[in-house]
Amino acid sequence: MYAVEPYARVEVADFRPDAPKYPDVADRSVSGVLGELQAAGYVETRDVLQEDAGQTYLSEGRTVTAVHVVRPFALVGVDYRFSREANSRAIRYGHTYADRWEITERAYTVPAGWYLVGETGDFTMDLVGVAGISGDSDDLLCSLFEIEGFGASTCLAGCGSCGMRWSAESGSWHFRPDDCDADAWDFDDAAEIDDESRTVACPACATGRVGFSIF
Ligand SMILES: [Zn+2]
Repeated sequence: MYAVEPYARVEVADFRPDAPKYPDVADRSVSGVLGELQAAGYVETRDVLQEDAGQTYLSEGRTVTAVHVVRPFALVGVDYRFSREANSRAIRYGHTYADRWEITERAYTVPAGWYLVGETGDFTMDLVGVAGISGDSDDLLCSLFEIEGFGASTCLAGCGSCGMRWSAESGSWHFRPDDCDADAWDFDDAAEIDDESRTVACPACATGRVGFSIF
């Protein structure tokens, strides 16, 4: 995958595997592609957020990267193949370039501006979305955390029967009473954990069920 100037007239010959005219930005990961685009001078990136699941009530880690596209670009996909002759050269010499290739796709131009790239995962990251944003990324983190549920830093627990409420913070599973005179408790000590309804037996009244919500 190559980055080219928007509206550039590209020809098959521009993508000779031994001497491509354009920077190859292909990589297995999103961050790898962004790194290649940055090295080619198309974008500048900045980590906005990097969290692993242990710091919050997230099921997996997440990252948000601010990407400033300083020069618009388009991506061109090229498919390389080896002829039988090239294959036997590869066997004989251990390495050879593909001798057949074709342009398989050309993506729309990515205009200059600011973008947010969101990924989730623990070891390998999956792209969840790209959003164009207006202006600088300075206030970005604040506005992200204004989205309901984005923080995932507080876990509220409440019983539907006795009305007791608890809260836990920053990924901890120790629940302290929230403005009521119930005792604190730990999730590990909870009884009758029901995965389907995501409730546990109420440690205060024992008959009710405690449900959770994360903010
Ligand atoms: Zn209760």
